[in-house]
Amino acid sequence: MQPEEVPELPKAVAAHLREEGIEELYPPQAAAVEAGVSRGQSVVASVPTASGKTLVAELAMLSSVARGGKALYIVPLRALASEKKTEFERWEAYGFDVGVSTGNYESDGEWLASRDIIVATSEKVDSLVRNGAAWIDELSCVVADEVHLVDDAHRGPTLEVTLGKLRTLNPGLQVVALSATVGNADVVAEWLDAELVESDWRPIDLRMGVHYGNAVTFDDGSQREVPVESGGRPTAALVDDALAGDSGTQTDLSEADSDRDADDVGDEDGDSAFTTESGSTTDSDDSDQGSSLVFVNSRRNAEASAKRLRDVVAPHLTDDERGRLAELAAEIRDVSDTETSDTLANCVAKGSAFHHAGLASEHRSLVEDAFRDRLVKCISATPTLAAGVNTPSRRVIVRDWRRYDGEFGGMKPLDVLEVHQMMGRAGRPGLDPYGEAVLLAKNSETRDELFERYIWADPEPVRSKLAAEPALRTHVLATVASGFAHTRGELLEFLERTLYATQTDESGRLERVTDDVLAYLERNEFIERGDDSLSATGVGHTVSRLYLDPMTAAEIIDGLEWAESNRAEMIRALAGEGPTAASTPKSADTPTMDAGFQRASELASPDARGESNGTDGESNGTDGESDESPPPSDDRTEPSPDDGPTYPTALGLFHLVSRTPDMYQLYLKSGDRETYTEVCYEREAELLGRTPSEYEDVRFEEWLSALKTARLLVDWADEVDEDRITERYGVGPGDVRGKVETAEWLLNAAERLAGELDLSAVPIREAKKRVEYGVRDELLELAGIRGIGRKRARRLFESGIETRADLREADKSTVLRALRGRRKTAERILENVGRRDPSMEEVTKAADAAGGDSGESAERSGSTATSSARPEGDPEEQASLGDFG
Ligand code: ADP
Repeated sequence: MQPEEVPELPKAVAAHLREEGIEELYPPQAAAVEAGVSRGQSVVASVPTASGKTLVAELAMLSSVARGGKALYIVPLRALASEKKTEFERWEAYGFDVGVSTGNYESDGEWLASRDIIVATSEKVDSLVRNGAAWIDELSCVVADEVHLVDDAHRGPTLEVTLGKLRTLNPGLQVVALSATVGNADVVAEWLDAELVESDWRPIDLRMGVHYGNAVTFDDGSQREVPVESGGRPTAALVDDALAGDSGTQTDLSEADSDRDADDVGDEDGDSAFTTESGSTTDSDDSDQGSSLVFVNSRRNAEASAKRLRDVVAPHLTDDERGRLAELAAEIRDVSDTETSDTLANCVAKGSAFHHAGLASEHRSLVEDAFRDRLVKCISATPTLAAGVNTPSRRVIVRDWRRYDGEFGGMKPLDVLEVHQMMGRAGRPGLDPYGEAVLLAKNSETRDELFERYIWADPEPVRSKLAAEPALRTHVLATVASGFAHTRGELLEFLERTLYATQTDESGRLERVTDDVLAYLERNEFIERGDDSLSATGVGHTVSRLYLDPMTAAEIIDGLEWAESNRAEMIRALAGEGPTAASTPKSADTPTMDAGFQRASELASPDARGESNGTDGESNGTDGESDESPPPSDDRTEPSPDDGPTYPTALGLFHLVSRTPDMYQLYLKSGDRETYTEVCYEREAELLGRTPSEYEDVRFEEWLSALKTARLLVDWADEVDEDRITERYGVGPGDVRGKVETAEWLLNAAERLAGELDLSAVPIREAKKRVEYGVRDELLELAGIRGIGRKRARRLFESGIETRADLREADKSTVLRALRGRRKTAERILENVGRRDPSMEEVTKAADAAGGDSGESAERSGSTATSSARPEGDPEEQASLGDFG
């Protein structure tokens, strides 16, 4: 089938597809068209990775919009939203407006009403529905990308409920669900009342095999000799072999055997470097060079693997490539001033990269682009990369097929679905004759096991995870608050339409869990129940609109109310005058109930414990020696009796939001328990609520993890350098960004809840601003100016420019010096602050002398970021930081 033959597809679109080289639809695409995807029919397309699912979505969306409708494309990860938007923007030339919505949750995204195609995550769509976005009713076509993720315990329920709501709101809605090949696509199709298109077809052959000894055995019985030097590692040998091109020996002889164990299966943590014996010359023609993707099970392993593979890749590079890679490495360093950024740059300079969720989004796209351009030859990645980013590769090496799983209590084999998605990245259409996906075995038993487990195996069926309590808690409140259900009966009727309901065979379970959740919501005053009626309270509506887990809201409300009623005492304790919270038990009659159904303060132990000293002056963030951000001598987070203490303190508020289920807390590593127990007692008067007893193991541990997370946030808000923070807490820059963004969102929610409940909101607003900008109090005004990040704000402040007014009046050469001679930046900033004549033209060169690039790179990672880091034209784009999915 040709593009012109697709019914109801605008002619111009078909012509454009042809120009792009799409002359013939791939068979699964043709099958979707035959099933009616361009005529408004709902379709579930369950086809392998890289077989052109995006085009199926485009055919559906463009023809639907051409009929006067509006389309929504739901992505599983925020990182993918902007990628998809860019991809769809080529249709703007034909009159299809594209918008992306990834910003703050609480908004109705009214501006999106004018767009024809909207890209958003399921969380965002859910929130738009809760906020009553009017245009939701106008949707005619919704695409769910990677719909098999309804199986994901964390994010699946939102996707599932969101699709249910959209279908309830728009009964005629076309649903196009794109899925990897799964075991029960028919069940998904039945749930969505859709036609099923199921196929194993791939645009390029995929050969799957297992490397063991000195050869890879493929599924068709053939073998490829890939010898491993004594003491060498199979991964390195496979990467080297792919780069060397097609000169390897391919045989269909019986299996080669070896009794030597491969040494790098799942344990490449060591430091020993592999040195290749490759005879390749530096000028090797790259036309038949094959790139490799290596999948490993942790970020640390990804970095270690990329470092090792540098020496394998480097000998295959041409002089020209080395030059271009050096430029790319410089660009990577410019993204942020962290150790991760440095390590990545060092690896990329030699053509080997790593990719994981701890990287900044700019890092990720630089690496992905360079890999697609065949400049970077090898990426060592955690499986995040397999989830949707289009990075085809000649060879895929699944090095680790097990991952640590706490609930499982050890190393757990990955799902077949996940391994198949990784393997599906093998083969670049038009470049490779076929793709190769290889697993690694230490011995012949493992080789046989891997064939059984992954190569011959079918992917698992997807199963709904909606019945889990946190998911139901959130979605039941939202369903009631946004008017989808006014009675228990209506609520159950809505839930009956979910995938969960079609899958569960345990009768009564959904009803039982729903009743438990309703009781919890009523107890916390988020809903009210009449005889047969259900309605949300004012606070309940706010909680739902803020997109909070009700348990998060309960914890925050409890903490804030506790602070209000213990204010005087805590302020005395902070000033070192009175007894601390712990010595004056408040609610001694703690009811003994199921933990999940108690109010947060009821969970706290009334145990009295020793006195603590809340004013020891410990400053978490002032031991950084960096001259980039000299910390001010007074620690503004410490209340002082002289200027009237700020209560609650930033630490107290950070701790409060960090202990909610909506914050992914930092782990306690060995030694942390002692450290944070000490911090806990020292700062106890600042914490909002009673510290649990040390004997309540789980509660106490969570309390300390939250404290560790809060301390990271305090460091950030105290202007500690990002790389010091990553080092101190053993996390990646993406994690810092993630925590900061979540804290910003939760503090914003806390401020709103405080307003609703007539509690004091000022300290919350200040703490939120400090975490948003990553600065101390005195810089809040400057850091709020567009184009000024935390470091620039600090340098301007040090030069005597402390306010917006100062900046409008300041001597231009002083401004330029503080901005390290960056004229364009200086002009833009002066423009943003409303200076009449922002031009830097007449400022002498002398001001440049103090310039240099060193400060600029770091600037971009600051939370307010330069305008270039904040995409124009998207009013909802969050001001800060990268994605971290
Ligand atoms: P999936 O979403 O299934 O993983 P994509 O939609 O990303 O796969 O498609 C993979 C690649 O195939 C893209 O580069 C796309 O441009 C290309 N492609 C899709 N359909 C066709 C076609 N009919 N002919 C040629 N190339 C195609």
